[in-house]
Amino acid sequence: MHNCKSIIFKCMDFRLTKETNRFLQENNLIGDCDIVSLAGSSKSLADGKEEIKNLLLKQIKTSKDLHCATEVILIHHSDCGAYKASCCFASEEEEKNIQTEDMNTVEKLIKENFPEMEVKKVWAQMKDKKGNEVEFSILN
Ligand SMILES: [Zn+2]
Repeated sequence: MHNCKSIIFKCMDFRLTKETNRFLQENNLIGDCDIVSLAGSSKSLADGKEEIKNLLLKQIKTSKDLHCATEVILIHHSDCGAYKASCCFASEEEEKNIQTEDMNTVEKLIKENFPEMEVKKVWAQMKDKKGNEVEFSILN
């Protein structure tokens, strides 16, 4: 048996790797999660084409069936290129709110397909453009 607790959707952006690993470490998720790395994290589940959504939902199904994962963690971040970076938003708050709406949409989609899966949403606020410091907050 090789089981893990979670499947994580995170952005592929290399600037987040170091701090995301710290977050995973602090939450005892290193070695206990499957990781899907995509531009914009779960954005394509919120607004992608049907076949892309199906491909991503299949990753959750595989993680659940193969590794008995019981929760999906969505990590979205500020200054994300898939959301055309920070410059297009009026404020940090607006940027966070728009991505949170997408995460809420994705949560609903996941719950429709996998009612027993827990969904956690995490916002990663970059404190600098290089990703040296990132503040993670778990959303409700
Ligand atoms: Zn990104």
